[in-house]
Amino acid sequence: MKVIGLTGGIGAGKSTVTDHLRGRGYIVIDADAIARQITEKDAAALEKIVHCFGTAVLLEDGSLNRRKLGAIVFNDEEKKRQLEQITTVEVVNIIKKQIDDFRKEEKYDIIFVDAPLLFETGADKLTDLVWLVDADTKVRIKRVMDRDGISEKEVVDRIQNQMEGEEKRRLAQEIIDNSKGKEELYGQIEYLLMKYVEE
Ligand code: ATP
Repeated sequence: MKVIGLTGGIGAGKSTVTDHLRGRGYIVIDADAIARQITEKDAAALEKIVHCFGTAVLLEDGSLNRRKLGAIVFNDEEKKRQLEQITTVEVVNIIKKQIDDFRKEEKYDIIFVDAPLLFETGADKLTDLVWLVDADTKVRIKRVMDRDGISEKEVVDRIQNQMEGEEKRRLAQEIIDNSKGKEELYGQIEYLLMKYVEE
């Protein structure tokens, strides 16, 4: 079984790519979904977060106030590092377990792992190769502004908080350029599926 990592910066089009892959019947492990699950009420990582950041990051019902936690770590490198330490190890372990489980099933020739922080967390080591979804910065900014209803500055701040795009381009085996329309994007995915999967 081949494991393909999918990554890319904010608004590059990862979800659009994974929606297409799922529609084509492929398994996609979703690192963001795992990160949310492990910080749900009563989950192990949530307890550690409260221990580190205090009950101020909880909502009244005891669940995590993600917006508040995000705001705290956004401008504080040390706090950001602490949060990443708590969550990263667990997310990567769960991804590894899910890959192992799919491998044991012996049903799949290929599966995908969608992780915005694939390289930053070291989860790329669990994959055989990486497809990077990328798009012109201006296009990404406009798409995220439209999608999330936020200002240009907010998008630019988020983008600058991530690993340099050049570094990711160097580490990836394939680069999907999503600067044009969705049909053009799907064409590139189909080409890569032929190259790696349906050969
Ligand atoms: P994030 O990292 O912020 O979660 P993402 O990489 O998953 O973002 P998407 O949510 O897939 O990116 O795409 C960002 C927005 O741009 C979405 O609203 C999506 O519908 C739109 N979009 C993606 N690709 C295209 C395209 N080729 N043409 C037009 N709109 C697109």
